[in-house]
Amino acid sequence: MRVLLTKEQYPQKSTFCNLKTKSGFVLEDVENSAIHGTIDTPVVSFGLKNGFVTANKNRYFLYEETDKTKLKATSRYVWAHPKKSDDLIEWNGQKYPGSILCICENDTFSIINVLDSEIYVMSVLYCESCIDWDIEVQKTFAIMVRTYLVFRVIESRTQAKAGTRKWYDIKCTNAHQTYRGIHNHPKLEKATQKTSGLIITWGKKPIDARYDICCGGVKPNLLEGVANFEKAPYLARTQACTFCSKAKAFSWETIYPQKMFEEKIRSEFPKKKARGNLVSVSVSRTDKAGAVKEITIKWQKDTLKISGKKMYSLFKKIKSSLYDAFLDDRGIHFVGKGFGHHLGLCQWGAKEMVRQGYSYRDVLAFYYPHTSLMRLEIVSPASERN
Ligand SMILES: [Zn+2]
Repeated sequence: MRVLLTKEQYPQKSTFCNLKTKSGFVLEDVENSAIHGTIDTPVVSFGLKNGFVTANKNRYFLYEETDKTKLKATSRYVWAHPKKSDDLIEWNGQKYPGSILCICENDTFSIINVLDSEIYVMSVLYCESCIDWDIEVQKTFAIMVRTYLVFRVIESRTQAKAGTRKWYDIKCTNAHQTYRGIHNHPKLEKATQKTSGLIITWGKKPIDARYDICCGGVKPNLLEGVANFEKAPYLARTQACTFCSKAKAFSWETIYPQKMFEEKIRSEFPKKKARGNLVSVSVSRTDKAGAVKEITIKWQKDTLKISGKKMYSLFKKIKSSLYDAFLDDRGIHFVGKGFGHHLGLCQWGAKEMVRQGYSYRDVLAFYYPHTSLMRLEIVSPASERN
């Protein structure tokens, strides 16, 4: 499987990626694996020259084995493997198992980690879970993280078959799942092994296993415009989660100073008029679940309506879509419930369910109704070459 570590516009700087490993590297042209070169030093510094990848400032690193001065090829797609396959690769202060792909195309370059999916699951748990939590919770999360991965892999490879070439399966940020290189912890390793290959399915297919930190007690089936419930009925849970109600993340309040709030709104909507003093900020429309769909901001002479989605993206301290808003002497208050998008598994709720004696099967069945568990056949990493 392939994780996108970064994708950037073509840089002005000549070096874009420094990789380190103990044993040195074998470099391979992705499009023609017969072409390769080696770098004996533990560091390789990739750069760009006329749209081609350079290694240690040398564009022509893919030589004939017998004559090191003779160029075999240049490449836009270079795959760096450590000489010893179990050595880790260091990039940007993090250690990565497997190998790294450097891709230059369409005015962008991408750095992609190719690795074993079970090591990925264990490493994501380190970022997305809390190590102190019970192993049964970790097992629940391992199955969920693995399912989310498999769903994205299928999605990405289906797009590739349809003609959109995509080099990666999943992003390393919370746009998908947070992954920061390999992380070992005995409990996470055990949870991953004990659930090896298990995924959540609906209609014999992996589900889009969404999860958030705390659901805030909403009934997800009443949320509007957040998912296609016909395609994903397992996200339309009708029973509210009450397990997270005592968690710290359940309620939150944040205050933006009026000056900062108004500046942000004015810079975001420069063409909108905002004359006079700010009079009020209020939630003017919610869906049946209570999620904010529209906020109304009133000045003495003008009114501005902003979608809930836009507010969430503009004001980062708003933690969920379930909140109230008002203005007073201290600024604009947002008082809300939950942390995240309110869909799928609620992590604090799952923790509480396990504390009350529920198994990972019970927890998954509650948060993803109508689903079952299936075991994947683990495919060898060598198949990544195809
Ligand atoms: Zn909850």
